[in-house]
Amino acid sequence: MSKRDYYEVLGVSKNASEAELKKSYRRLAMKYHPDRNTGTEAKFKEVKEAYEVLSDAQKRAAYDQFGHAGVDSSMGRGPGGPGGGVNFSDIFGDVFGDIFGGGRGGQRVNRGADLRYNLELSLESAVAGTTVKIRVPAHKTCPTCRGSGAKKGSKPETCTTCGGHGQVRMQQGFFSIQQTCPRCQGAGTIIKDPCPSCRGQGRVQETKTLSVKVPPGVDTGDRIRLAGEGEAGEHGGPPGDLYVQVMVKDHEIFTREDSHLFCEVPISFTTAALGGELEVPTLDGKVVLKIPPGTQTGKSFRMRGKGIKPVRGGPVGDLICRVVVETPVNLTERQKELLEELDETMQAGGRRHSPHSTSWLAGVKKFFEGMGF
Ligand SMILES: [Zn+2]
Ligand SMILES: [Zn+2]
Repeated sequence: MSKRDYYEVLGVSKNASEAELKKSYRRLAMKYHPDRNTGTEAKFKEVKEAYEVLSDAQKRAAYDQFGHAGVDSSMGRGPGGPGGGVNFSDIFGDVFGDIFGGGRGGQRVNRGADLRYNLELSLESAVAGTTVKIRVPAHKTCPTCRGSGAKKGSKPETCTTCGGHGQVRMQQGFFSIQQTCPRCQGAGTIIKDPCPSCRGQGRVQETKTLSVKVPPGVDTGDRIRLAGEGEAGEHGGPPGDLYVQVMVKDHEIFTREDSHLFCEVPISFTTAALGGELEVPTLDGKVVLKIPPGTQTGKSFRMRGKGIKPVRGGPVGDLICRVVVETPVNLTERQKELLEELDETMQAGGRRHSPHSTSWLAGVKKFFEGMGF
């Protein structure tokens, strides 16, 4: 029996592009697929064979030059090149993976789940950057069965209910409905002799220790992605990713706003009045802050470049110190006397010693006048 021309089988021209070939193959494969039809198996095989050859550049060249003799499958390879390469199930899986959402060679390939790890950091570590070791629970591909789920020496068998596609077509009245195969639950394979290490799951639970490099300047809400460190896929599928979610703990002294740091500094009544120098903390040591005479409570002093270098680049932020004047407590009799003495002299000096009261009283006066009192 002479074979039909492969281009004719696929209904494409001799210079059809790869995309045209694939498109035509998908259409015909759908049309003749034995899961959906009866008595079309021979047609389906013919289409598959034609596509197998024409989708491989080397085989296609051999076929173009020598015809069927150039790519006779019983010879294993064509004279046109090293050949022997095309894996039948690969082509099948690729194309049908798209159409049926099924898998390669009847086995579904499922990417593992992404994992999230909440990492708490001190403000100091977040600003300076650090390397932390974290332990994450994860599934990994079972080393005993290498993910197949079958006991050593046995193999998963192709499910006979769905023919390895993981999906079956059910006829309901006029409608044909595609469903996950009830026998293999979509795996496409049945494991008769499960691997004892993973009980047929193809993956096992483990705890792994990872070293995470945290770049300087991270803040709450930032996340670090570790590609491929998520859960192993089922049935030997690729692993997911691990996301390390950063949470910066509250600091005793500093609060953070983007690249700026804020802190509150108590100063004595005397320093506030007379002025002086004050040591204030920064994230990299102490600095001296000059307090001018007559400083009022609530006054903020900005120290440029003493804040945080943002993780995504940009200028280093500032440290902003807000001073709070402390009212002295637990006074001795002598101290009380001195304060009373001080008060008398200030009364004599009038309101010029109290800038807030002056403006406040002026405001009150204006307010009353406005109200007509
Ligand atoms: Zn196993
Ligand atoms: Zn099945």
